[in-house]
Amino acid sequence: MQDIYLEKDGIGQVLNTYESIYIFGCGLRGKEAAYHLNKANIKVSAFYDNDWTLWGKRVVYNWYCEKPHNADVSAVCIIAVSKKYQYEIKNQVSELGFKNVLLWKSSFDEEIAVQEEYFDRYISLLNKRTPKSKLYFVMDITEHCNLNCQMCDHFSPLSDKYFVEIQSVEKDIKRIAELFGNDVPFVCLEGGEPLLHPEICRIISIVDKYLPNTEIQIFTNGIKLLSMTEEFWRVCRDSSVVLMITKYPMGFDYSKVESIAKLKSVELRYFNNKEEIKSSIHKPIDLTGKQDCYSNFHSCYMANAECVDLKNGRLYPCTFAANIHIFNKYYGKNITVCDKDYLDIHSEITADDVRYFLCNPIPACKYCMVDKWSYGHKWEVSKKHIEEWT
Ligand code: SF4
Ligand code: SF4
Repeated sequence: MQDIYLEKDGIGQVLNTYESIYIFGCGLRGKEAAYHLNKANIKVSAFYDNDWTLWGKRVVYNWYCEKPHNADVSAVCIIAVSKKYQYEIKNQVSELGFKNVLLWKSSFDEEIAVQEEYFDRYISLLNKRTPKSKLYFVMDITEHCNLNCQMCDHFSPLSDKYFVEIQSVEKDIKRIAELFGNDVPFVCLEGGEPLLHPEICRIISIVDKYLPNTEIQIFTNGIKLLSMTEEFWRVCRDSSVVLMITKYPMGFDYSKVESIAKLKSVELRYFNNKEEIKSSIHKPIDLTGKQDCYSNFHSCYMANAECVDLKNGRLYPCTFAANIHIFNKYYGKNITVCDKDYLDIHSEITADDVRYFLCNPIPACKYCMVDKWSYGHKWEVSKKHIEEWT
């Protein structure tokens, strides 16, 4: 591949012939390239970098697992890294399938070097609006919980007892396997408290049967782990389940759970930092639904990320839309969820339809006030006051 350099002057003429433009490199040179492309009104489809600490933050795709959808002749990858890495990155880029590669010629523009905030906003927006090749999703197998935290974003303290039906799990997981095959890195079994489901062993076996290369994670507060059956531990071991524990400041002895998991040879990870004291996030809802869907979606950490919620054949982009019926029922409200807020996975759709659905706001985004979300509230058991969610 011949080395062709791209400079900021005349950038439009060179790049306008391509349909999709990718930048490899999120350091100074990547920022500089992004800045000049934006100035010339040219949209970047995605960023790559080998620094894993940037993946999902600044980097829309990482080259280890995310291939672009269209690295054909209509796409170009601009390599914006220092000269010493150029050769190595060129190889990685061709492994990704790119036929066209340009090398960014930096002018070391000081003005751009300090555009951190601009760059972060730009990347974050891009990240939200780029279809992801892999699907990460949550399955709420219960809705109620044995802890009932204030401000719970699944509305579990307000929920009636609910257990997902096994037939529904099987039908849905089978369909996800048809659509995405091996492109499902992990599935999170959540609730409420998922360990309350009396048929959790069957659920694990079903997920493992249809998605054998997917990591099954169980998100739990850990309380119930002290009384799980031998069968549960065996199934977890056989299916390489990972127990993801959120540690709450409720006087529970987590070391006991660690010992049991170790004894049963089941992997246990803490979702929050092991030493961290869990606090609550207040996510007020605008009951009038007058918020801007786009700005909410662009700054929502749940959007187009790992909070996609699969519930009875419907795929929602977030746990809010999937569970707001619980809030509605308890407080007699009518926050509307319409057929544009979810995808029916059993209708005639492709994996790409799912990808594009997930990178766009849904009508329910108008009820969120993402700019008013506040973090670090002292953890407490819910008093079920509506103010916890409004
Ligand atoms: S443990 Fe989790 S699901 Fe249960 S109430 Fe607390 S936040 Fe909600
Ligand atoms: S409705 Fe939109 S803004 Fe609200 S949590 Fe879901 S994705 Fe985020």
